[in-house]
Amino acid sequence: MSESSKFDQINPPYRLLMGPGPINADPRVLRAMSSQLLGQYDPVMTNYMNQVMELYRALFRTKNHWTLLVDGTSRSGIEAVLVSAIRPGDKVLVPVFGRFGHLLCEIARRCRAEVHTIEVPWGQVFSADQIEDAIKKVRPRLLLTVQGDTSTTMLQPLAELGDICRRHGVLFYTDATASLGGNALATDAWGLDAVSAGLQKCLAGPSGSAPITLSPQFVEVVRRRQCVEQGIRTADHVDGDDEMIYSNYFDLGMIMDYWGPERLNHHTEATSMLFAARECARVILEEGLECSVARHQLHGAAMLAGIQGLGLEVFGDQSHRMNNVLGVIIPPGVQGEQVRQMLLNDFAIEIGTSFGPLQGKIWRIGTMGYNARKDCVLQTLAALEAVLNRLGFASRQGEALQAAWNVYTAGSC
Ligand SMILES: *Cc1c(COP(=O)(O)O)cnc(C)c1O
Repeated sequence: MSESSKFDQINPPYRLLMGPGPINADPRVLRAMSSQLLGQYDPVMTNYMNQVMELYRALFRTKNHWTLLVDGTSRSGIEAVLVSAIRPGDKVLVPVFGRFGHLLCEIARRCRAEVHTIEVPWGQVFSADQIEDAIKKVRPRLLLTVQGDTSTTMLQPLAELGDICRRHGVLFYTDATASLGGNALATDAWGLDAVSAGLQKCLAGPSGSAPITLSPQFVEVVRRRQCVEQGIRTADHVDGDDEMIYSNYFDLGMIMDYWGPERLNHHTEATSMLFAARECARVILEEGLECSVARHQLHGAAMLAGIQGLGLEVFGDQSHRMNNVLGVIIPPGVQGEQVRQMLLNDFAIEIGTSFGPLQGKIWRIGTMGYNARKDCVLQTLAALEAVLNRLGFASRQGEALQAAWNVYTAGSC
């Protein structure tokens, strides 16, 4: 039997992805991805790259020239920002309120930063005062934050932190992978120096491309760490090993030279992912960024009302919840994994589990991107109620859908 006949053509089963990401991609994005490839210096291609820069400036709400894609999943954007900015021995401050804060610490440690953290229990966020106090004590060079941490479903307020960072001469970064497009984010107005994102959450695309934006001040930091030789930037002439960006692939200086007018060869831009990223941005901007955020808020509120209508408790400080993910406390006597399996096998609906201190304690239900829709919310609630009834959990039958419907009759975008 030949290898090719051993395996079928890819034909995945239908799934409704209602977890914390990935979610079902918008069909428009899938169509864009199936477009034929171009050479990387074809003027049509470089024009698409310029268009992507412009589209993502609008999504990030910034005038930053250096707004581009890092090729890889969201983590590649995080890593490019951290590796390019952090010099060995630099102090960084990470307010940790979930798993992705720990990821920032881990990457910063690999960059040989001196990592300082402050922590709150999972389910809470930090006040601006708590962060400013820590900045005064630690005197870091960078503040590394997560805006929406899907592990806890909490949204860290960022609006006041830019001023604080400015006053103390601190560079300000946030991971907005899970929040961009579904929660307000204003790069320039909030004084952010670097923001990274991904497509597979509120942007309705697949994972594999990481849009980022860099302030002029951040770019200056990166530029000091590289030099030009015969039209190709190399790290050879940077003063001392300490100053050298240790990664070639994630050297934002080299990536900027590739995206800039010089078009210096670096990697081969991931063409199909660029098509996807371009269409993701077009979908949201066509709807209107504010409308997209309002839509996520509406469907998140409907899901919350439905879950409470079922008689279930939700997790965390609800005044700081992300619009697009809900933590649902698994009721006593119910096996969380059994519920998830029945939803997947009998209804083709996926909801999320949890990790760390929340493992086995909460489900995470997403309403984001292409799936921030009324039919997705109502189907998920109907299925969850049926499964819970089947397993003997006495819900107030029928109330979940009515509660969600009530949210929809009260408001829409
Ligand atoms: C989902 C998520 C990511 C995902 O990173 P990938 O590399 O795309 O898997 C990163 N950061 C946050 C805050 C997330 O919620």
